[in-house]
Amino acid sequence: MYDVIIIGGGPAGLTAGLYSGRAKLKSLIIEKGLTGGLVTTTEWVENYPGFEEGILGAELAQKMEKQATRFGAEIKQGAVTGIAVNEKIKKVLLEDGSEIESRSIILATGAHPRYLKVPGEDEFRGRGVSYCATCDGAFFRGETIAVVGGGDSAVQEAIFLTKFAEKVYIIHRRDTLRAEKILQERAFNNPKIEMVWDSVVEKIEGENGVSKLHVKNVKSEEMSAIDVQGVFIYIGYNPNTEFLAGLANLDGENYLVTDANMNTSSTGIYAAGDVRAKPLKQIATAVGDGAIAAMAAEKYIEENF
Ligand code: NAP
Repeated sequence: MYDVIIIGGGPAGLTAGLYSGRAKLKSLIIEKGLTGGLVTTTEWVENYPGFEEGILGAELAQKMEKQATRFGAEIKQGAVTGIAVNEKIKKVLLEDGSEIESRSIILATGAHPRYLKVPGEDEFRGRGVSYCATCDGAFFRGETIAVVGGGDSAVQEAIFLTKFAEKVYIIHRRDTLRAEKILQERAFNNPKIEMVWDSVVEKIEGENGVSKLHVKNVKSEEMSAIDVQGVFIYIGYNPNTEFLAGLANLDGENYLVTDANMNTSSTGIYAAGDVRAKPLKQIATAVGDGAIAAMAAEKYIEENF
């Protein structure tokens, strides 16, 4: 029986593990892939305080993991398929059929990339269609590629991709970007980046790999084709809450709703990080959520067990 099971090993989950470990709670972090979460899919992190020159995403994740385990949090690899609550005891169900009991749970499952849902996307996934520039960027050395989206992810990763690609189109559905101003400035000043405004990708075409995007200008309705060897899709994320099946209240976009103490609508179950409905999804806010959730879990256990 654990005091706290933390589902998800990104910055929110690892910070929750750090705080719950230091509170001497028996803590388990369950992560289905590699620890670190989405941070590991970005090469360089510039806005996490304490690293004034920036830090590699993978290195930051590693440091967070080491710090959490140093104070006693255990980490287990496994995919959680459900949670069963029996009075105060919560049972975490795993894909391999095993079950682990806990007094409290912190949901820190993050979010996964949204698909464009256009013809060719499924067909060419892994053959020119990618959702991770850090993972796949180096395959496009000297090539022409496109990034779809206008948020921080699209613009930051487009800039990163210019390290490899000869030319990077940013295809955005409006005529202004949502990304941070400093990222916008860098993109506009980068000679390898060309903006394709007011445009949406309607079809991804190719043979062995991607060779062409069919793009529609949403204002003029005009269609055009852009020759590219790869397309990186950064049109936002969907929260990983499917496995919860009604356990706690979600907002209209399926993010977990919490109060200021990270309480979900289910007693003894907390949420932290990108899976939570909140205005700013950043590493800096994820770690804050994780710390608050762990402290709330500690108080709940003290008062209820
Ligand atoms: P986001 O902020 O939700 O932006 C998604 C972008 O994709 C928007 O520009 C949106 O257009 C566009 N889009 C959405 N659906 C689309 C569709 N079906 N077709 C075409 N375009 C579509 O997502 P994100 O950029 O991945 O960022 C997610 C969160 O992580 C944000 O909170 C962000 O601040 C944070 N983040 C921060 C950093 C950083 O601080 N450096 C880096 C990465 C991510 P509209 O603008 O028209 O809505």
